[in-house]
Amino acid sequence: MNTIDEALKANGTYAKSYDRALDRPPPPRLAIVTCMDPRLTNILQALGLGAGDADVIRNAGSAITEDSLRSLLVSTRVLGSQEIMIINHTDCGLMTFKDEELDAKLQKLTGTAAVVPARFYSFTDLEENTREQVQKVKSHPWIPKDIPIRGFVFDVHTGKLREVAA
Ligand SMILES: [Zn+2]
Repeated sequence: MNTIDEALKANGTYAKSYDRALDRPPPPRLAIVTCMDPRLTNILQALGLGAGDADVIRNAGSAITEDSLRSLLVSTRVLGSQEIMIINHTDCGLMTFKDEELDAKLQKLTGTAAVVPARFYSFTDLEENTREQVQKVKSHPWIPKDIPIRGFVFDVHTGKLREVAA
């Protein structure tokens, strides 16, 4: 049995004890942009939050892209999130290659160039990358000016979160 089939079977068990209160959740308290890395799957638990407390936007490297900004705008302007956290992490896969290298590798592997993605958002400096992400969100003209936007690094070895000074 493959992983998806196993997951479907497990879902049958999960649904039996599903919290129906989540049918109509209250507005999220905050929006979190974080990495798709499996070690950040339980980020709500790591922050003492429950399902329904936060909108979690995940992609490779917590990248601030057109799409994550779109989700942040919906979260803050439509759904009611009052704060934004950007959470990067140690050992991120996006620090293991450079955009140009992966681009060249994939072109060689497939024998063709591609229009998208224009960027993979790889980076080398975790703190600097976090600061840039915060700046990108803060500078967007439609993001509310009165909500806190703060950047963090999650240490995958200790489970601790530390704030990156703006
Ligand atoms: Zn990552």
